[in-house]
Amino acid sequence: MRDALVNPKHVDDYGRGVRRYGRQVFASQNLQEQIDRMAQAHNAIIIRHLDDRILAWNQGAAALYGWSEGEVQGKKIHTLLRTEFQEVRESIELVLCKEGQWEGQFTQTHRTGRCMIVASRQVLVHMGPHQAAVIVEMNRDETERAFLVREHIEAAVREAALQETAQQMSAFVGMVSHELRTPLTSIKGHLQLAQLHLTRLQLRVIGEEGMKQALTTIQYSLDRADRQINVQNRLVNDLIDLSRIQTDQLNVQQTQCDLVQIVQEALEDQRILMPSRLIRWTSLIIQAPVLADEDRIGQVINNYISNALKYSPVDAPVDVRLEQEKAMIRVSVRDEGSGISETEQQLIWKRFYRVEEHENKNGSGVSLGLGLYISRALIEQQGGHVGVESVPTCGSTFWFTLPSISSE
Ligand code: ADP
Repeated sequence: MRDALVNPKHVDDYGRGVRRYGRQVFASQNLQEQIDRMAQAHNAIIIRHLDDRILAWNQGAAALYGWSEGEVQGKKIHTLLRTEFQEVRESIELVLCKEGQWEGQFTQTHRTGRCMIVASRQVLVHMGPHQAAVIVEMNRDETERAFLVREHIEAAVREAALQETAQQMSAFVGMVSHELRTPLTSIKGHLQLAQLHLTRLQLRVIGEEGMKQALTTIQYSLDRADRQINVQNRLVNDLIDLSRIQTDQLNVQQTQCDLVQIVQEALEDQRILMPSRLIRWTSLIIQAPVLADEDRIGQVINNYISNALKYSPVDAPVDVRLEQEKAMIRVSVRDEGSGISETEQQLIWKRFYRVEEHENKNGSGVSLGLGLYISRALIEQQGGHVGVESVPTCGSTFWFTLPSISSE
């Protein structure tokens, strides 16, 4: 801790000052003259006997500790200032006697009772063959600096702890999500099997109205269960992606592909899922070759379109558009929904962020506020950018760009 609190350079300058001062002062044999010269110095300089009694104390020391020289002369310094050492006191004295100097920190108390961390440089000075040696101390208040350094260290420790917790959390989320996905896949498989058997059974039942009715009810339940499983799957996959992003393991498999085709496929998926909604499509170019991970780009477009459908009135259209913008291809999804304020436009890309007052217009299930966060990570990893243009109550346009291969 001591090392962290004392800047060695300062202590060195400090030490050199003391040595220079000591040489000047004590070159003369006249102690009173030496003490008078010392009194003019700005730094706190104290001369004390080996038994701690104060011999002289300059204005700097008076300013540092709040006692005048007259009040302290002859008093034992460590009793007066209630010095608390960070190491055994005898070992400091031993160093002083053997090496002629010591430097370090201790805590002392100001006249008012205020505790101070003091950096001290002490030199043993021999006055002459017939005079006892004295100790010259140069002391400096380090409380504020020590406080700042401690704050800095504590903040760094807190930050490291937070990072560790975040990493453990991501690893935990990743592990749990993987565990959840396995039974979900199995449930989905069984559901599809049940739907298949049911369809075959429905074909065989002819004329039995009661039975037909019962089978239709079962089919309705199975379809609902299937939709819920899809929602669960999406949530679990989002959590897995989140953990991958946070552990830098979000891998994309980029191949040369046509963005026009990827957008059209995603659009068809959404039309099947929401047949009652109008999703319009405009492409200003016939082909848009990009180097991208098809599935992952499809995931981003699906997320943009499903959000547009979710957050706009059921009778409002959604427009999907593709165009070339210099070296980039731009895909945008426009809706006529509630729109997003400027502040929220920055925040919605953060993980778990959801705008509270946004009503999900088509009631299509739970959301974690991860879709845009994942979309942004996926697009940026593939060399593109994401963004939104929106005016509250006038709808939103979510867009992303990817580098076009043809113009490279
Ligand atoms: P979520 O699963 O909650 O939709 P997203 O990350 O995809 O998560 O979106 C974050 C939030 O951004 C949403 O909760 C919603 O408040 C807002 N948002 C996203 N798309 C739109 C949109 N087209 N119109 C209005 N708000 C939107």
